Amino acid sequence: MLAQARACTRCPQLAETRKTVVFGAGNADAELMFVGEAPGASEDEQGVPFVGRAGKLLDRLLEEIGLARAEVFIANTLMCRPPGNRDPLPIEIENCQDYLLRKVELIQPTVICTLGNFSTKLLRGDPTGITRLHGRPEVLVLGACAVRLYPIFHPAAALYTPRMLDTLREDFTRLPALLALGAPEQPSPQQPPELADTPAPAAGSERTHTAMRAHQPPPAAAQGAAEPDQLGLF
Ligand code: URA
Repeated sequence: MLAQARACTRCPQLAETRKTVVFGAGNADAELMFVGEAPGASEDEQGVPFVGRAGKLLDRLLEEIGLARAEVFIANTLMCRPPGNRDPLPIEIENCQDYLLRKVELIQPTVICTLGNFSTKLLRGDPTGITRLHGRPEVLVLGACAVRLYPIFHPAAALYTPRMLDTLREDFTRLPALLALGAPEQPSPQQPPELADTPAPAAGSERTHTAMRAHQPPPAAAQGAAEPDQLGLF
């Protein structure tokens, strides 16, 4: 998959303008996976996600909860930098989504922390924004894998808005307890992932739903078009 990703030309403009394909980095057996938006200039230079200012903040927040970057896996919705740091286009998100799904299936994390709107909308297959969803874990079936999805604000948003940093930090502090719950119940291997929804969760139990099925583009509204926010961060 790495060689295929490095040679990818599914998005002709991105393939033309990128310096590197930022595949993702970290522990391939991680319990905790982060999914951000797209590489910026520093990431494009170095081929590693979250190495700029937002990445330094992510490192600090991880350290505050006793985790090191090397223990987690970090990926993005897009593996190539959109020129001028523009928002990812719906077609680019669609082109890149099966790489992300394959990473999830390889790593099989217990918790996926989506950073900001783009990855949250993509993985949930729903246009609800991060302001409503942050800090609220839910069980989600992605491909063959049930994970605990935990949407939080994008660290870049917290760089600009101190109040958001407090919220992000508070949401981060709940991560250890979420990880301690362990993996959610997995879909049975005989059952095709498309049928893995839990129909009616009992009162008080976790909500489970299936999202981002392989090779199925998310609804257009899930690709960042539904909210006025231009940065996709809030
Ligand atoms: N912002 C992202 O969403 N991803 C990166 O890798 C860097 C900054």
